[in-house]
Amino acid sequence: MIQLFIPLNALGFIYREIRQSLVNVEQMFSLLKQAPRVVDQPNAPVLPDTGEGIRFHDVSFGYHPQRRILHQVSFVVPTGQKVAVVGSSGAGKSTLGRLLFRFFDVDAGVISVNGADIRTVTQRSLRAAIGVVPQDTVLFNDTIYNNIAYGRPEATEAEVHEAIRLAHLAQFIEALPDGLQTKVGERGLKVSGGEKQRIALARVLVKNPPILLLDEATASLDSVSEQAVLGALNEVACQRTTLVIAHRLSTVRDADQILVLDHGRIVEQGTHEQLLAAQGVYARLWYQQARGNDSAE
Ligand code: ADP
Ligand code: MG
Repeated sequence: MIQLFIPLNALGFIYREIRQSLVNVEQMFSLLKQAPRVVDQPNAPVLPDTGEGIRFHDVSFGYHPQRRILHQVSFVVPTGQKVAVVGSSGAGKSTLGRLLFRFFDVDAGVISVNGADIRTVTQRSLRAAIGVVPQDTVLFNDTIYNNIAYGRPEATEAEVHEAIRLAHLAQFIEALPDGLQTKVGERGLKVSGGEKQRIALARVLVKNPPILLLDEATASLDSVSEQAVLGALNEVACQRTTLVIAHRLSTVRDADQILVLDHGRIVEQGTHEQLLAAQGVYARLWYQQARGNDSAE
């Protein structure tokens, strides 16, 4: 959800602002989205930190009133569980993430986190509770260390190192000319897609949020780097409330619940086994993708 269309000069500008004021990445994106329609209520409380996880109840939404994108979407991600949303491109998957992050308010229905309607709590507390790994991560022209610590600028060095370990980045960093102080974008430093996604993951780990939102986090990777990143993601996702958006079904078969979104409606839901047994949309997609993989190998 963070791969919004950001002109690079705007990004540089906002990045300087961020370095000065230490606002966090989500505030940066809310600046970019300039969504004045989303405002805190006066005296809004902070998000409760325990409760039932994420609940979408009869949510309908369109970016424009004449074109509805989501139709009465309802589902729950219980605390500590992993729910996956699959469906073809344009189905509205990323829109679910944008609404959860409250870049936009729903047109009808309610989204609640830990029992609180997200419109009633501060945006800051809501966004602090959610860590996002988007499809394409933006690295800043700064040291690797700062690129990671950026998830929470006041993090200690030990916390940054722990995040590096969990994201399986230690080897990559050891091989860099100046280790963690190596600057991205200098001396022809090449960071592969897989390394970038693991840096994004480390950033989120430093932030240490109770909720993870993975929006096609491995979609841009080849299958070897995908396995490496998925392994790291799975380790950090257990114990957290996780919403995974994916196109490749093989990446979500272990989810507690899989939702199939089609043209903004949930058309099927269940575990991987239940959905295969149902022989519906999911099963068809699964066999299609399995065949695709077979013939590719
Ligand atoms: P998915 O992630 O499943 O590919 P999205 O949620 O990104 O789908 O998009 C769903 C639909 O909403 C698409 O038709 C897309 O063109 C439209 N859409 C997405 N973002 C915007 C936006 N900012 N303004 C208007 N329409 C949008
Ligand atoms: Mg998307």
